[in-house]
Amino acid sequence: MTTISSAIAPDSQPILPPRTIGILGGGQLGRMLAQEARRCGYRVAIFTDERPGCPAGQLADIEINADYDDKSALACFLSKVDVVTAEFENIPDVCLQAVEAVKPLRPSRTAIHTTQHREREKLFLRDQGIACAEFRIIENLAQLQQAITELGRPCVIKTAAFGYDGKGQCKVNADTDLPRAWQAFEGHHAVVEQWVPFVCEISVVGARNVSGRMAVHGVIENQHVHHILDLSISPARVETAIFDQAIELWEAVAVGLNYVGTMAVEMFVTADGRVLVNEIAPRPHNSGHYTIDACRTNQFQQQMRAICGLSLGDPAQHTPAVMINLLGDVWPAANEPPDWSSVLNHPRAKLHLYGKAEARAKRKMGHITILGDTLEEALQTAAEIKRALGIESST
Ligand code: AMP
Repeated sequence: MTTISSAIAPDSQPILPPRTIGILGGGQLGRMLAQEARRCGYRVAIFTDERPGCPAGQLADIEINADYDDKSALACFLSKVDVVTAEFENIPDVCLQAVEAVKPLRPSRTAIHTTQHREREKLFLRDQGIACAEFRIIENLAQLQQAITELGRPCVIKTAAFGYDGKGQCKVNADTDLPRAWQAFEGHHAVVEQWVPFVCEISVVGARNVSGRMAVHGVIENQHVHHILDLSISPARVETAIFDQAIELWEAVAVGLNYVGTMAVEMFVTADGRVLVNEIAPRPHNSGHYTIDACRTNQFQQQMRAICGLSLGDPAQHTPAVMINLLGDVWPAANEPPDWSSVLNHPRAKLHLYGKAEARAKRKMGHITILGDTLEEALQTAAEIKRALGIESST
């Protein structure tokens, strides 16, 4: 079950091939957008503070390597592009403002600015009445103590800025010493959140275009190891009521942000059948990579269509799928890849590598999508492939 609200073409002038899509950021999400866009005949320009030859730069027509606040490099980039998007959210606001003043930035500076910072994100959710864990914003130890008194234990403290994949987080258990826990956050804004005893974690990935039409791929079930996504299972094994709540939440976030582009919303499912928003990613998402092999239109094609002012494609999933994330931990040595034969010899396993020369622990190096006639079959194949590659299991 997927939704596509309409196929009517948007009113504004579309940006068509061979015009140039500009991408802020040089990682794998930019790489996969570049792949999709170039397949359709667009040109792609990357602006990144990474070194030349980064994952997205390898596939771009133009790669500019400079700091995000380098005005002349940014002006050069902007002179070459027709529309700009971002492949990660931690982009300095001065850069977003400079881009938006000159070229269409999709999603908007406001959408990126809101979602790149947990405090702003949480306040947005509260303002919109969108369900999320109870929270308090704090900036000192006294406020932490007050928040814990009000919310109870366990809780989790999260830095407001630059947190992802569990970084900048500390769980407050029954015996946690608050002054000691606060030391790591001293001098920063933080969000204290009630701990959610979830039964599973899910995400919804979808796109909204310039005319406000929305198309979501469905609900994805996510399993994490050490806070990093390990396995995504689609469709998620949840009841219809959970599925419907999740889609409604995604749509409420997209409309609330007046969002244009592909967006992911990560959520918790509670034992009493509630769905709570955990995090918003203003871009395609790791959990949506299965769409490349298992959906009629993938999350990057939708991103391209949305930002270029086009109609969205059909997001429906045609085959049950499981995605295995490949972290650098699986590499026997930094420059020595695993033996891929167990993956490449399998008729229904699809290997995606991101062109990162050096493997490091926890670094996202690639993913594998496994298709099955049934979800059970895909899960069984995924378990076999994980075993063959020596990947730690999430279950
Ligand atoms: P985040 O970086 O906020 O996505 O958090 C990383 C992971 O930590 C999530 O995927 C959850 O597994 C866990 N987590 C974060 N916040 C909470 C919470 N309030 N309650 C329970 N688990 C959480």
